[in-house]
Amino acid sequence: MKNKKILVWFRNDLRLHDNEMLVEAIAKSDSILPVYFFDPRYFDETRFGTAKTGVFRAEFLRGSLKSLRSAFRKMGGDILFVQGRPEDYLKELVERFDIAEVYHHREVAPEETLISDNVEDLLWTLKVNLRHFIGHTLYNKEDLPFPIKDIPDVFSQFKKKTERDAIVKSCFSSPESIAFVENQEWGEIPSLEELGFILNGNENFNGYPEGGEEAGLGHLKSLFAADSTIYLKNGKNNADKSGLSSQLSAWLALGCLSPRMVYWQVKDAESKFGPNIHFNQILLGLLWRDYFRFMFKKHGIAFFQEEKLENEVLYAAVEGDALDNWKLGKTGNPIVDKYMFDLNTTGFIPHIGRQLVATYLIHVQKIHWTCGAAYFEEKLIDYAAASNWGNWASIAGLSKDVKSKNSVDLNKQFKILEVEIPDQPSFA
Ligand SMILES: Cc1cc2nc3c(=O)[nH]c(=O)nc-3n(C[C@H](O)[C@H](O)[C@H](O)COP(=O)(O)OP(=O)(O)OC[C@H]3O[C@@H](n4cnc5c(N)ncnc54)[C@H](O)[C@@H]3O)c2cc1C
Repeated sequence: MKNKKILVWFRNDLRLHDNEMLVEAIAKSDSILPVYFFDPRYFDETRFGTAKTGVFRAEFLRGSLKSLRSAFRKMGGDILFVQGRPEDYLKELVERFDIAEVYHHREVAPEETLISDNVEDLLWTLKVNLRHFIGHTLYNKEDLPFPIKDIPDVFSQFKKKTERDAIVKSCFSSPESIAFVENQEWGEIPSLEELGFILNGNENFNGYPEGGEEAGLGHLKSLFAADSTIYLKNGKNNADKSGLSSQLSAWLALGCLSPRMVYWQVKDAESKFGPNIHFNQILLGLLWRDYFRFMFKKHGIAFFQEEKLENEVLYAAVEGDALDNWKLGKTGNPIVDKYMFDLNTTGFIPHIGRQLVATYLIHVQKIHWTCGAAYFEEKLIDYAAASNWGNWASIAGLSKDVKSKNSVDLNKQFKILEVEIPDQPSFA
């Protein structure tokens, strides 16, 4: 085909480095049309009365898209911003730009896969192929030592076999040049107000992580710089693992950083500075991230062992003020309240904080775990469906890994929270 044009549909993959979808699109076409959809479904209210996306994540997303646009503009092109659902606009775009194929990254959570399926059906009617890429994980699924259906449900087994028998591929280089489809109007990144946020004027994003590939790579570099106090000076013999946090998660969640890039940077730092528990912690985190994504892929919603999750969610109505008090950080438990305050004001709390507030909500307040997961979905700057719902389900005792030593030690959590062990603390 002469003058073949490929539409590259960006989702949670907002980067140029290690982006196989982009590399392939450039190689297989004469020109590409990068597109991002501000899908209103992601700025809607959920059935829990929470927002699908809170203001901090929306601002981080806007920053990430500005960064991507700027990278494309430096190469003489741009990215098209569309406010609407891909299902409603792709037909027109395919026809207007004479697009031969659409490339995108497939997600694992049900809502996202449904969107891909809808788009695939729509494109099929136009005889246009939707090509799927899976670039979110450290290990490619085809490189795992087992097919998806046989992936061990127990994390320690997944980790052991994967580390022993699978390899982490090297990163794809960032493209040096790109031929872009001719276009005049590329659209604007909507303001927070245009995305539906009602601002009270007190929002201050100074001091929050800046979205985008450039900022993410800068943060990654700073972690391993020779003068990085956290990672090098304190790291070697630090036995207290609870406070470790690279704070890479927001860039990883939006795909501004690829997990492979993080992995190889850690390996490089290890070779320069020697082993370090902080390095191990990051690599372990990346494996947990892969594990939850692959569990979603393998089991879908059945991963939660809640056969009627839909009904559970519908009946998760809560009486009294306990849920609101938890959200507002007014439970009276100082540890929970401190972490909830931090979550509400920064969009980030470390892993230990997430475990503690979730334990408190589920096992002390006896509130359904999905209410907490939905609130985290709104507030977290690093929200990622598989990681969030997977971790919440684990704490509720509903993941497939519940019997293993990796499951959360609730009694330890109650001790830190200084609460008495509640009745029936064990899993539901
Ligand atoms: C209730 C609950 C909800 C959570 N929701 C999310 C979420 O929506 N998005 C998210 O990225 N993480 C989530 N996590 C996992 C984890 O708490 C965060 O990834 C981590 O705190 C981010 O900090 P960091 O970047 O400093 O992590 P590091 O410890 O430095 O780890 C490096 C990276 O590994 C990944 N990672 C680490 N631990 C986990 C884990 N247990 N599960 C999945 N990925 C992990 C993250 O991408 C992280 O950036 C949740 C954990 C709990 C207990």
